[in-house]
Amino acid sequence: MQAVLVDLDETLYAPGDALIQTVDRRITAFIAWRVGLPWDRADLMRRDLWIEFGTTARGLNRLFDIDPREVYRFAVDAVDPSLHLVLDQTVGEALRRISAPRYVFTNASRGYAERVLETLGIASCFDGIFSIESCFYNPKPTPICYRRILSTLGLDGERVAFLDDNPNNFAPALALGMTCVQVGERGGAPEGVSRVARFQDVPDVLSSLGF
Ligand SMILES: [Mg+2]
Repeated sequence: MQAVLVDLDETLYAPGDALIQTVDRRITAFIAWRVGLPWDRADLMRRDLWIEFGTTARGLNRLFDIDPREVYRFAVDAVDPSLHLVLDQTVGEALRRISAPRYVFTNASRGYAERVLETLGIASCFDGIFSIESCFYNPKPTPICYRRILSTLGLDGERVAFLDDNPNNFAPALALGMTCVQVGERGGAPEGVSRVARFQDVPDVLSSLGF
């Protein structure tokens, strides 16, 4: 038994898409309102906290004791992905070529993830979703959420492949022995991570790596 863990945002659809820009703008608006900052500084804080803590919500929790659920409700759950994404059949075709069970592993909320998958027409391609709620709002790259997934699946890291666009998310996966593939053009991933430019190239790379 094997499993493939697939990130959601900017892995299953193109980076810089209108969807993620909309979510980012809402997070900035949340910070401006809740922390009381002008837009430019709120936007900088969003980015800095995202880099430092894995999600801006976790950073806001650490710095200002803001409940992450408040951030997700305002900035993520309020967004309708169907307004900002277009269905791309080739992503579903690529997913179906991966023979191992597939799971979404995202720092987004479950409801948002389900709506994105529905909009992309790929909900049926997945055996389950590991969302931010799955690990009590501990996001990637917090090692505990990777370990929790392995114990839920009852698998060793060596049996699991991990796909993500964000170079910062690979270190814990590598440490657990997972096979890692970075999707997209961002680069910056640590040594030992394979790379593909687009998701449609993932099945070939995975099968060459034994998945
Ligand atoms: Mg991503």
